[in-house]
Amino acid sequence: MQLHNFNSGPAILPKEVLDEAAAAIHNFNNTGLSILEIGHRTTHFVAVVEEAKTIVKRLMDIGDDYDVLFLQGGATMQFMQVPMNLLDENGMAAICDNGVWGNKAVKEAKIFGPVTVVSDSSDKKHTYLNKELNLPAGTSYLHITTNNTVEGTQWHSYPQVNVPLIGDMSSDIFCRPANFKQFDLIYAGAQKNMGAAGVTMVVLKKSLLGKVNRKIPAILDYQKHIEAGSLLNTPPVFAIYVSLLTLRWIEKEGGLLEMQKRNEQKANLLYQTIDEHPAFYCPIEKADRSIMNAVFFLTDPNKEESFLAVCKAQGMIGVKGYRTVGGIRVSMYNALPLSSVQAFCDLMKNFS
Ligand SMILES: *Cc1c(COP(=O)(O)O)cnc(C)c1O
Repeated sequence: MQLHNFNSGPAILPKEVLDEAAAAIHNFNNTGLSILEIGHRTTHFVAVVEEAKTIVKRLMDIGDDYDVLFLQGGATMQFMQVPMNLLDENGMAAICDNGVWGNKAVKEAKIFGPVTVVSDSSDKKHTYLNKELNLPAGTSYLHITTNNTVEGTQWHSYPQVNVPLIGDMSSDIFCRPANFKQFDLIYAGAQKNMGAAGVTMVVLKKSLLGKVNRKIPAILDYQKHIEAGSLLNTPPVFAIYVSLLTLRWIEKEGGLLEMQKRNEQKANLLYQTIDEHPAFYCPIEKADRSIMNAVFFLTDPNKEESFLAVCKAQGMIGVKGYRTVGGIRVSMYNALPLSSVQAFCDLMKNFS
């Protein structure tokens, strides 16, 4: 049976990335050594990090005022590393809380300084994005979750503000072109749209740093990582390599415009199928629907279990909604082929 991988993360990767990664486990770049066996300070691996940074900068169209870091601890660590480096008692973090991940960012930032929630969509169960942001005076930075992985909403244009903008792009990094220069710091756990679990990319403007009044442990200090070129300690070598392969794949396929074309085609097909079949409904405000993670429900909740059983029987992997939201969630990251969404829509029509 053919499997269709709609996992929300770790998630589907391009087949050729898997093939190349598998080959490199045995013989990396004709060194006769495994990628798992080479030193992280060898010219071989330094070249991997440098090429990955170069591709990221090219895709984002950013200059040398930014640096690209490959860190550990997941996006979850960024919930604390961002405020530890950028917020103190004299400042104010403005944070959009539009779901599970934004909410965690709020909780962690409060450990380091004052926080104002400037967008909260819990009044409608996070089925829309509240975009009326009133930033308090003295705001140090605004933090948004560009794609709410669990709830199925996505910012389709970013807020224009005159304070540093921070984006958690874990689940929609490189899904389409964007004005990345609008951001002062972007982070993304790699395991959703750009590689394997174990590495988190942080892209930041160097001028952002050095403004807080606190001692920062070296391993959590962005400045120290910049100075060490992402090699402060042993980085997650294999996960970085898989990200490099995925970044190369994005460029080879045609870059971010091509990713956008494919992702919109998949998302349009799925949302159209949901909207046309009364057996299903999507509560998310149309203008805010995510092209990465579609969250929807069966109109008759008693049918959910049998729908999930049919999905399972037909090789549809990972479509059960997040435990606190329920319903169905279909994740359609860059590597997911249109044919998988077509197969899922055919299943929906038949079930309906
Ligand atoms: C998955 C996810 C996270 C958490 O990522 P970890 O790497 O597991 O820490 C944070 N933010 C968003 C938007 C996510 O999708």
